Amino acid sequence: MANREEVGKGFATEGRKDNASTLRAGGARWSKQRLAAGTRKRHNAVGEVTVAAEVWTMRKRANRALMLMCVLMCGLVFATSVRAQAAVQKPPESAATSEPKVKAVKFRKLWDGKGKVWTDAIVIVDGERVREVTTDAKRIPAQAEVVDLTRYFGLPGLIDVHTHMTLYTDETPPTETGQSVPMLKQIANNSPAVEVFLARKGAMRTLEAGVTTVRDLGSDQYMDIAMRDLINRGEMIGPRMFVVGYGLSVTSTAYKGTNSAPGGNPAGGIADGVPEVLRVVRQQVAAGVDWIKLFASTGTDDDTSGFQTYGYDEIKAAVDAAHQFGKKIAIHSYGPDGARDAVRAGTDSLEHATDMDDATIAEMAKRGTYYVPTIDHNRYYIENGSKIGYTPGFEPRSQAFIARNLETARKAHRAGVKFAMGSDAVYSMFGQNTRELAWFVKAGMSPEEALKTATCNAAELLGKANELGAVAPGYFADLVGVEGDPTPDIGVVLEKVKWVMKGGAVVVDKTKALR
Ligand SMILES: [Zn+2]
Repeated sequence: MANREEVGKGFATEGRKDNASTLRAGGARWSKQRLAAGTRKRHNAVGEVTVAAEVWTMRKRANRALMLMCVLMCGLVFATSVRAQAAVQKPPESAATSEPKVKAVKFRKLWDGKGKVWTDAIVIVDGERVREVTTDAKRIPAQAEVVDLTRYFGLPGLIDVHTHMTLYTDETPPTETGQSVPMLKQIANNSPAVEVFLARKGAMRTLEAGVTTVRDLGSDQYMDIAMRDLINRGEMIGPRMFVVGYGLSVTSTAYKGTNSAPGGNPAGGIADGVPEVLRVVRQQVAAGVDWIKLFASTGTDDDTSGFQTYGYDEIKAAVDAAHQFGKKIAIHSYGPDGARDAVRAGTDSLEHATDMDDATIAEMAKRGTYYVPTIDHNRYYIENGSKIGYTPGFEPRSQAFIARNLETARKAHRAGVKFAMGSDAVYSMFGQNTRELAWFVKAGMSPEEALKTATCNAAELLGKANELGAVAPGYFADLVGVEGDPTPDIGVVLEKVKWVMKGGAVVVDKTKALR
């Protein structure tokens, strides 16, 4: 998503959100008309999503509890800090629901993410966690609500390790004239508040694809932190989010003075040289991010260049600073040079990365560096270029990039590199998050190996291997019911998600019509 006025072709080094903010700074950012239009879309959206009543009940009750708590706190402790208040405003999901605390979910088959396929599986869910997986109906507690999904195949909630949730847009924009507004422009015109509000639709579509957890790799104005916290508080329905704030990038736009537009902050994330890299990493940590992101090369949207931007010393400084704070780091590189230095510097995951040489691939396998190739996002760009607002003519370049991306993935898989599924979903791509898995199968994985990249492997990358990515005692009760067996055919995961539970609450249910 290059800002064509301000960013020179071939040097669109900023992350999507940085570009969005730069774009935003140039144009009118906010108007009553736009806000009104956004509100109308809200009503349309309610009918589009499948949300189980229990989530809303849970929210209402959480709100009531919250109000009570606020009254109490105002009366008693005047000097209570906002931070402390936020902490009490976050009840566990299960505590706020009026649904039975214990549920028994029955599947015809269950792939548990631990190497086992169960027949006639019963997953006993207590609150937001799995208590037990069994085939013995006698283990079902008397008071449990039984959820009969015996015509479906169960999977752990899926994990997408590369999204941009706050870059959601509709394909059909809210205009008075009915004229089509390119998605890039919609993003640029939305205020951060509107963007976060709209993003709940992308969040719902992501859940409908079976994705219950995302690692979100770039936002601005810390919209990602806001969205993560709203979801955790039960105020917004969406996948569990691990966020990065601003991705670090080198200066790539001409200096135009301080930006004073409301919410405008084009310099967010920009860092040149080791001292600035350290400062910006620390700023992100201070803001409350879960991960650090760094752009080590050019290339994004219809720009498929991959020139290295940060030198080894800067990358190493970012990696070490992140690790010092107990954070992991994801490094973006479209080309092989940034990828080589990112791997040598000890990045935890490498995003995109085509044309990697054998030595870099071998180093990744040796170190256990995760590869997140994001092959499918260029397919989405090619299919939607004019709606997004790209200049025609980029398609052959992006097509060639896909071929190189796939070939690099094939080599890396053969060399034993670990993979995690990342869609790089933006704009209207939400809901297509798992299409990446079909590319992994094309790159030589079995459907089961592909499934692991979106479950247990992704959970390991997140440092959550004991809580996410599997259906087992103590894990979050994130479950997906699909129609058909995905172990011989990954297409089942892409097309046939019918039911989704996140943290013990049913968030998608498309089974009713079939019963
Ligand atoms: Zn991305």
